[in-house]
Parts: sequence; structure tokens; C-alpha cells
Amino acid sequence: MAQLKRILVTGGAGFLGSHLCDYLVRQGHDVICADNFFTSQKTTIEHLLDCHNFELIRHDITHPLWLEVDEIYNLACPASPIHYQYNAIKTIKTSVLGAIHMLGLAKRVHAKILQSSTSEVYGDPQVHPQDEEYRGHVNPIGPRACYDEGKRCAETLFFDYHRQNRVNIRVARIFNTYGPRMHPYDGRVVSNFILQALAGEDLTVYGDGSQSRSFCYVDDLIAGLIVLMDSPDDCIGPINLGNPVEVSMRELAERVIAMTGSSSSITTLPLPADDPVRRQPDITIARQQLNWQPRVGLEQGLGQTIEYFRTLDLSRYRKPTPNRPDTIK
Ligand code: NAD
Ligand code: UDP
Repeated sequence: MAQLKRILVTGGAGFLGSHLCDYLVRQGHDVICADNFFTSQKTTIEHLLDCHNFELIRHDITHPLWLEVDEIYNLACPASPIHYQYNAIKTIKTSVLGAIHMLGLAKRVHAKILQSSTSEVYGDPQVHPQDEEYRGHVNPIGPRACYDEGKRCAETLFFDYHRQNRVNIRVARIFNTYGPRMHPYDGRVVSNFILQALAGEDLTVYGDGSQSRSFCYVDDLIAGLIVLMDSPDDCIGPINLGNPVEVSMRELAERVIAMTGSSSSITTLPLPADDPVRRQPDITIARQQLNWQPRVGLEQGLGQTIEYFRTLDLSRYRKPTPNRPDTIK
């Protein structure tokens, strides 16, 4: 049996964090979830609250946290454009100060630490598909910069703490991930389209819908984070984790309408500034070094996500921020 560890998951009540906590609790580890509930609610982890090996701390990682742990998964950060742009300065602080505090903790207690970085470090990419060598094309002063540059700076901090203080790091560059437990008011495309289709409302495609993304199902992504954390110490990343199957937003909307059997149509809204045109991960390194690749196709993953949202009690959820696509620049 694997050695039991004390593991901190920051952002553990979020979409990805709650699935990760589930997995780690099931493995028997002592799991501490730290979250300020900015883009989440207790609903995602309420089933864990009575577990003897799960502990919840309401904590904002822009402030230091002193704990004794063996591993840290640093996931705390709003991930949806409408919510991370609501308080851009806070988003940068979460990425940068949060990384400094978590790396400081890792250094002090000799914990291994994994950063949930993002495909957004590639910005609006001029190389396709994106491999880890590509240095990106980010607008440093645009509305997405608080997230993109915050995450880029966090990567820098991870590698500097590794070089200077020998902190044992892992850096995952996560591409668009979806699945059950996305917040219904998250604002990202998959949850938006599914909820709109189920409500019989028109699906809001931004721009002409020709822009693409490549969607990874949450179970695959969590498996990737686990193998990366457990990888040999010379395999620290940054490493792309995502599903390379690329789809345009118009195609995605049409698929969701067909799969839900909805009578909804498609309506268009203006394309947000700096919205990346194409995005697809090159996962050669993950395949070779981690022996990892996604297993769940879009059809199956969307099916499971649709079933989740079909029965979700929306009255239990509050909007994380008042932002809507038409209220952000
Ligand atoms: P999410 O918004 O559902 O979860 C983020 C969690 O972090 C929430 O529970 C939120 O309350 C918490 N949080 C935010 N600021 C915090 C702070 N200052 N202190 C403590 N907690 C804070 O998003 P997610 O999709 O679960 O993303 C998790 C991580 O993965 C993020 O770091 C995100 O950048 C990264 N990521 C996600 C995707 C994706 O497609 N889901 C893609 C790339 C990267
Ligand atoms: N998008 C859309 N309709 C929506 C929400 C998003 O067409 O209701 C588009 C958005 O413009 C982007 C893509 O879907 O091109 C993915 O957006 P999301 O916010 O999910 O994540 P991003 O990859 O942009 O961070």
C-alpha cells in the first residue's frame, strides 16, 4: 500500500480541487482543504466533511499559512475569465503572493509542491499545437493579463525556489477541463452551454464561434495531476495536461444542443478582448514521461456533465461575482 501522507490542497473546494480531495481521501491520506470560497461553495465538499481524514480550513492564500504537510497541491485561483477579471488585482495577488506563501511553506517543512499552471501561459498562441518549449504570446496589459501573467510569474517563482532553495516542485500546465461540479454560475463555456440548453435558452456563442479549445474530462485531469506529483524528482515539468481533441465553440454548441435534445438556438455575443483563437495541447511529454493520456472522449464526458447539471438544485448556488460577459471589457 502507498505511504499515507498529509496533503494540503489549496482551492480544494473548487471544481478541480474537490475532485482531487475526493481521490486523495479515498486513498486514505490526511487531506487539508484550504479555500476562501471565492468561486466555490461548501456544496462541492460537504460529503467529505464527516471523513476522519478530511479537514476544511477557510483561508485566503494571499496570507501565510503554517501547517505541517508532506505535499501541497496549489490550486487556489479563480479560473473563469468573468470571475478572475472581477477583481484583477486580487487575482494577481492570489497567483503571486499565494505562490510565495505556499512555496515558503514547502521550503520550511520540506514538502513537495505542485502548481496548477495553465495553457493561458501561452496566451493567444502563434504556435499550434502548443508544446512546453513554446514561450507564449501574452498581452501583458490586457484584461486576461491578471490571470495569464500571474500564472507566468507563479511558474517563475516555482523554478526560482527550486533552483535557489531546492524546493521539490511540479508544474502542470492544465488545458480546458470540464465535468460535474463546475459551479453552475462559473461562466466558462461548457457549463454555460449545458445550462442554457437545459433551460431552453439560446446558447451564447462569443464571436463567430470559430475559435477552438480542446476539452479534457475532469477524471483524466486529476489522474494526470496525481501521476505528475508522484513522478521521479527529475520530472518536474512544466508539463501539458489536456485532451488534444480540438473543437470550435460553434461545434460545441451544436453538440450540446443535440445531446440535451434541447429546442434552443444559438445566439452570438461579442468576442471578449484577447480571447485566444486556437488552443490544443501537445501532450507528447506527458505520454512519454508520465505514461499519461486522457481516456474519456468529449461525447462521454459531455454526457456525464449533462446528467450532473440536469438534476442540480440551482437554488443552492450564489453567483461568485456579478460579472456577466456583457459587463466585462
Ligand atoms: P475554481 O474556480 O472552481 O476553483 C478555484 C478555487 O480556488 C475555488 O474554490 C476558489 O474559491 C479558490 N480560491 C480562489 N482564490 C483563492 C484565495 N485567494 N485563497 C484561497 N482559495 C482561493 O477553478 P478550477 O477550474 O477548479 O481551477 C483550479 C486551478 O486549476 C486554478 O488554479 C486554475 O487556474 C487551474 N486551471 C484550471 C483549468 C480548468 O479548465 N478547470 C485550466 C487551467 C488551469
Ligand atoms: N465562450 C462562448 N460562450 C460562452 C462562454 C465562453 O462562446 O458562454 C467562448 C469563449 O469566448 C472562449 C471559449 O468559449 O473562446 C472558452 O471560454 P472559457 O471561458 O470556457 O475558457 P477560456 O479558454 O477562454 O479561458
